[in-house]
Amino acid sequence: MAVPKHKTSKSKRDMRRSHQNLEAPSLSTCPECGEAKLPHHVCPSCGQYKGKQITEGKED
Ligand SMILES: [Zn+2]
Repeated sequence: MAVPKHKTSKSKRDMRRSHQNLEAPSLSTCPECGEAKLPHHVCPSCGQYKGKQITEGKED
């Protein structure tokens, strides 16, 4: 089995982890109610997608 010959330095370890950051989800605005929603998803507030009623939504 392959075994690492040298200990990974704090610098190299942290450089590897520099890409492991959480990113905020991208949001788009619903054309029906103006609420923030995920793109290509049914609006959780009014339940519409592409001008059609898909689900009930929150009714407010
Ligand atoms: Zn909406």
